[in-house]
Amino acid sequence: MPAIAHTVHVALGERAYDILIGDRLLEDAGAILAERFPGRRFGIVTDATVAQTQLPRLQRSLDAAGLLHTPIIVPAGEGSKSWAQLQYVTEAILAARLERGDAVIALGGGVIGDLAGFAASIARRGMDLIQMPTSLLAQVDSSVGGKTGINSPHGKNLVGAFHQPRLVLADLSTLDTLAPRQFAAGYAEVVKYGLIDDEDFFFWLEANRAEIFGGGAARGEAIARCCRHKARVVIEDEREQGVRALLNLGHTFGHALEKDTGFGDRLLHGEGVAIGMVLAHAFSARLGLAPSQDTGRVQAHLQAAGLPTTLGDIAGGVGSTQTLMAAIAQDKKVSRGALTFILTRGIGQAFIERNVDPAAVAQFLDDMRG
Ligand code: NAD
Repeated sequence: MPAIAHTVHVALGERAYDILIGDRLLEDAGAILAERFPGRRFGIVTDATVAQTQLPRLQRSLDAAGLLHTPIIVPAGEGSKSWAQLQYVTEAILAARLERGDAVIALGGGVIGDLAGFAASIARRGMDLIQMPTSLLAQVDSSVGGKTGINSPHGKNLVGAFHQPRLVLADLSTLDTLAPRQFAAGYAEVVKYGLIDDEDFFFWLEANRAEIFGGGAARGEAIARCCRHKARVVIEDEREQGVRALLNLGHTFGHALEKDTGFGDRLLHGEGVAIGMVLAHAFSARLGLAPSQDTGRVQAHLQAAGLPTTLGDIAGGVGSTQTLMAAIAQDKKVSRGALTFILTRGIGQAFIERNVDPAAVAQFLDDMRG
């Protein structure tokens, strides 16, 4: 029997799918896929790091179930969300003679999910996608919801497609090989769900953080709660025309900081989001919308999780306010010159504000750099 601890159904009509969460699910992947996708062949897109530890597990499992598969390996890191790697993966899918009725498996973190998902959406005019997320960030966020894409020199995630997976299989044991810094970065997205509209979840996280980091039962529970939250939002607003934008809490500041630091090791995506969420709370407090003690509480929790929370925490510092504002203006969450931000009335009370004054943001950033 597969060790599925939690099943979350994403009820999207004909695009509906399940998220299966459990320990050592990769060992059951062959049996699960043979039952749900009989007769298919699989292209397994992964990165060089995940290929070392997780790919052999998946391959053994598919072999045991008699399923044919071809690995497609790209370098690890955000740099692989590029035109060059999109071309490489798409051509590799075609070279492996995978047909339209076959499927692409994304085995890896958010980079692999976004890249492989986008390739699956265009190869042979669209192939089925199976997400097997191996980072915390991917398990709680990027593998669910169908956003796929790559980065452009003009900014992050500016080229892509909505392409829902047919199945998400999240093996908790893959997180055992994840670097602690990457785990913490993913945790920022976990906290985000509490901050958006679930104050109880944030309080639960405050009480259970140690167990989540330690790998206890609370880890699977936290991941399942995040998936349920994301599934709910995606069902309500699949194409981000409304409430789904709330999931971008902390991301407008975060993306600008990521861009400024070169989308690399100086600041991981989740780390940018952590600083961005604190800034979103502080900015909301400055506008008189939220109590300032909430900013302190959010900051303390993220700090305790080992995350950066201020501009001063970024190794090597950040560019000028002008540079950051240019990055914010280029972010896709800008509509006709007005800045759109996710602001908050307090923990668990985020909302979309489409008319934020750029001068107020610039002044705020000036003050935040101290
Ligand atoms: P990532 O895919 O680069 O993974 C982080 C690092 O951890 C990589 O070096 C990877 O090789 C390594 N890794 C992953 N799993 C591992 C494991 N089990 N053991 C050892 N090492 C492992 O990055 P990420 O943090 O997972 O995802 C960030 C990306 O996700 C960003 O590009 C972001 O834009 C995207 N994202 C997308 C969505 C969406 O809805 N599509 C949502 C949030 C974030």
